Amino acid sequence: MAKIVLARPRHSNPEGKRKGHVTIGIVAIQGDFAAHAAILQELGAETVEVRKVRDLEGCDGIVLPGGESTTQLQFLKEEGLFDAIRKFSRKGGAIFGTCAGAILLASEVRNPPQESLGLLDMTVLRNGYGRQLASDVFYGPSTLKQEPLEMVFIRGPIIEEVGEDVTVLARHEGKAALVEKGNILVATFHPELTDDTTVHEHFLQMAVKGTAKAAMAR
Ligand code: GLN
Repeated sequence: MAKIVLARPRHSNPEGKRKGHVTIGIVAIQGDFAAHAAILQELGAETVEVRKVRDLEGCDGIVLPGGESTTQLQFLKEEGLFDAIRKFSRKGGAIFGTCAGAILLASEVRNPPQESLGLLDMTVLRNGYGRQLASDVFYGPSTLKQEPLEMVFIRGPIIEEVGEDVTVLARHEGKAALVEKGNILVATFHPELTDDTTVHEHFLQMAVKGTAKAAMAR
């Protein structure tokens, strides 16, 4: 398995953080944040559970896991993380949202309409696939690998529309299921619940690039 390590020295090295490693903050309110952490650690990243704004300090990327987007939105607002995450993105930090996290990142949410971070130009329909169980595994084409990508959906949103400059990296039943633009990556499925590390590897590459770019701009 590929280990992803930053080659450049970091500007700061807060306690407990190994030098030269990419650090990913995982919003840990609900959902399978521990599964994201396990995969990212396996790939060589440091992970931090994010519950407060200060937890974002020193992070190269942020994961917004699945769960219930309405509950998560409320928590992000109460904790000031809503604004802090938007600021992180403006500075070029990489953000990966899965399922509820995808809903939070969308520019428009339907069924019902809901406020969101609006960091990716796309319209999502909540619970668009109806009731799905974690045991339902699907396979869809992806530009990230030759073989089909394994996808687990749990009451996921449907991406109904994406902006012109949004890249579709994988599809499920013809619909975009993994998309990206710049520093934002979104999956309507749960790559943390499969053995396939392709999507997390891709995200770590994005986080490394984003941090390197930000460091150069300083
Ligand atoms: N249905 C949830 C929502 O609308 C998302 C489900 C998930 O994250 N697995 O927020």
